[in-house]
Amino acid sequence: MRVCVLGSGSSGNSTFIEHGGTAILIDAGLSYLRVRQELETLGLEPRLIKAILITHEHGDHCCEASSLARRFNCPLYGSRRTLAALRWSLSGSEELRPFEIGKELELGNFRITSFPVFHDAAEPCGYLITSGERSVGLATDLGVVSRAVLDSLASCEVVVLEANHDLEMLKTGPYPWELKQRIRSEVGHLSNAACGEALAELARKGQLRAAFLAHLSRTNNRPELALQTVQNYLDGRAELHLTWQDRRSELLIL
Ligand SMILES: [Zn+2]
Ligand SMILES: [Zn+2]
Repeated sequence: MRVCVLGSGSSGNSTFIEHGGTAILIDAGLSYLRVRQELETLGLEPRLIKAILITHEHGDHCCEASSLARRFNCPLYGSRRTLAALRWSLSGSEELRPFEIGKELELGNFRITSFPVFHDAAEPCGYLITSGERSVGLATDLGVVSRAVLDSLASCEVVVLEANHDLEMLKTGPYPWELKQRIRSEVGHLSNAACGEALAELARKGQLRAAFLAHLSRTNNRPELALQTVQNYLDGRAELHLTWQDRRSELLIL
């Protein structure tokens, strides 16, 4: 299984996962050109992409959904209310595959299970992607790591989890008070510490071997600070990889 976060942050998100000739994108917040270019640098064929899965309807996760679905000629998957909420941005010709959260989907070699997350969107979810013995989990844009999220990610070897902000930088930073409250709320975004705590628990109890730190704020975080904070919780029990807004992450092969 091959995993690469093609871009991550409040200006656009998309993650590529491939196994045995079937690939999916999770989220569609990057342009077709950008996705194609990032895949080319890895020697990966864009035509392998067979589906696009959306986590929620915020623009940084779906603003290119219509264009990517058309260019890759593949369906858009999302929870029923997520797809309803982003319908205004679609042309009407896309193939939509709404699902009930928690219900397993089969797609090529993949078994895909969605799980609910707390975030200020219509019906947001994270994903567990399994192929054979291998599992990858993704949860970005969530205010808290609930027990349901931890249970859903328990079998993962690789997790993409957000480390959005450093709490002190957010508190003392330039954002207006209301926005700071929104980010810190149960339906906002995870701090570095919350991300570290969750990954530490997964590493202690589960199979976790590597994690991508995703959706880092450019205003309220710094990559080395996110890495150091999470590392303090993990204590070397899993390898950590950064993700970037303007370039892809490393490609992980598992
Ligand atoms: Zn987002
Ligand atoms: Zn969001």
